[in-house]
Amino acid sequence: MKLTVDFSALHRAVAPLGSPVSDFTISNRASDWVNVGEHLIKGLILGQDIDLKDIDGSAGILNYKGYQVMLYIPDQGYNIGIALADGKHKDARKIHVAECSTLENMRQIGRFGRYDVISRIDGKFPVFGINPLSRMEESGETDLGVCKNCLTILNYKGYEGSVGAKKAEIFKNFSFEVFFEDFSSYFKSLPSNRTKAKSSYTSDWAKVSGNLRAELNFTCEQCGVKLSENPKLLHVHHINGVKSDNSRQNLRALCADCHKKQPHHEHLYVSNEDTLRINEYRREQHKFDVFDYGNVRQYADSALDGLLIKCQAMRLPGPELGIAVNDNNKMISIDLCWPRAKVAVLINMDSSKLLQKNGWSVFSAFEALSRFDVFQKAVR
Ligand SMILES: [Zn+2]
Ligand SMILES: [Zn+2]
Ligand SMILES: [Zn+2]
Repeated sequence: MKLTVDFSALHRAVAPLGSPVSDFTISNRASDWVNVGEHLIKGLILGQDIDLKDIDGSAGILNYKGYQVMLYIPDQGYNIGIALADGKHKDARKIHVAECSTLENMRQIGRFGRYDVISRIDGKFPVFGINPLSRMEESGETDLGVCKNCLTILNYKGYEGSVGAKKAEIFKNFSFEVFFEDFSSYFKSLPSNRTKAKSSYTSDWAKVSGNLRAELNFTCEQCGVKLSENPKLLHVHHINGVKSDNSRQNLRALCADCHKKQPHHEHLYVSNEDTLRINEYRREQHKFDVFDYGNVRQYADSALDGLLIKCQAMRLPGPELGIAVNDNNKMISIDLCWPRAKVAVLINMDSSKLLQKNGWSVFSAFEALSRFDVFQKAVR
């Protein structure tokens, strides 16, 4: 079998680092994604192709073998016409993106109707049903809305604490693409985007970006963090999006975190380790001498934003970023913490045992949200 693989996303991702594209080796991960991903784009049947127990919801969002997935019922019944005309209509099925009560319930009773597991970020989902007038089967693709329980338990964009028009707006403006990016730290890779236009970096790009970074002393032009110890974390961004326009006013040296947070950069993957490292540098370099929620939300991993909005609304003391705890000369990086109360929030829970050994209370962001009473007692 011949596999045709589109590496333009990878090329785009390495280009800002200034390293030649030929340096790249194809990992098992990438080829793995091609197989699993191809199936997940079309949708796999829950209980038949995929077992519910293989979908991990412990971090709040849904993880299948390292890939972010959603669950939905493609069969719209007699509402197929409504669903095709307006996927966000109240009578159209919703897409689950988190471990909400619907999933909890399915796990408990071990039974469920026909659900599909899908991983698609373009917001279009295959649906079918019966036209009530003609009694004929109809099918197509539509822009189904996200499940509101899912938005609530993640407090996504502050959904839980919002009311009225604000709340409706969060639902209406929900983008699966942005959502996947917001929670990308929990996953090894983002789904490749097959439709975006190919990039067109100039042949001297490595040199141009290298020179600019050196000229700026490896400093991010947005947050001011200096990355000379780890220059790969400093990217060079094209302000107007045109990759062949290397005029100085179109270029901006940005740390990976500031770069990822630019508009239309949903496909720039920055690992949790890199985000943690950048915040440690920022802290060492006194960028965090003033801690308020505005500051913290700007620099924290986007996956923690729902929790931060809730903490701010509940007037919890401000958390800190960029702290690492020394355990026998091994540094344990913490995503978010309240050092006096010794409370830590982690994205990658692997180091939670070590932190607990050092006297810390450790929560995942999802645990903190779902057991907020326990969490806020620990923090106050
Ligand atoms: Zn849901
Ligand atoms: Zn920056
Ligand atoms: Zn950019």
